[in-house]
Amino acid sequence: MDPLTFEKPGYSFSLVNIDCLPHSTHFNVLMALDAPIESLLPYLVACLPACTYVHGSGVVQLMDRGHIVAIYPDRLTITDVPDTTGAEALCAEYFALIERVQRELPRLTPVLRRQRSISVLDIYRRLPQTNCGLCLLPTCFAFAAAVFRGESVIGACKPVESTPSDFGELIEILQANGYQTP
Ligand code: SF4
Repeated sequence: MDPLTFEKPGYSFSLVNIDCLPHSTHFNVLMALDAPIESLLPYLVACLPACTYVHGSGVVQLMDRGHIVAIYPDRLTITDVPDTTGAEALCAEYFALIERVQRELPRLTPVLRRQRSISVLDIYRRLPQTNCGLCLLPTCFAFAAAVFRGESVIGACKPVESTPSDFGELIEILQANGYQTP
């Protein structure tokens, strides 16, 4: 067995190195479910207010504390996890959510379509827009796009990091959409 694959009741998970980032010490997690959850997806969406889902697409996507999470009928993928302990905790959390949704199914109203409530422009408009480059990206717009995709965190913007209280609205909308904030 792959030494980085762990078996749990109901699922297994493995850690995959992020090859495109040679110096990264983080992993992506692949969580394989023993039983498929295709019919459950619209009910999971009902419990995940900041996700994106279109019925029939077969995938629920969301940002969760800086991780990009994709929920498929047979598996979940979770990006940017630091170690096995972090992966184990996240997988346990998502499996507990699946079990809760299964238990509460009769009381839940399925949601067939949900769009993310944040865009790159929403982030960009609330940044300093000075293009100072201190985040190591050439423009604030490039940084906003990187944050939106989960490739950077808002704290990498130096003005936000040094005076977060000046960016309260930005931090609030990011938190509401599951992004990691300072
Ligand atoms: S550090 Fe902040 S203000 Fe400077 S370019 Fe990056 S996003 Fe813009």
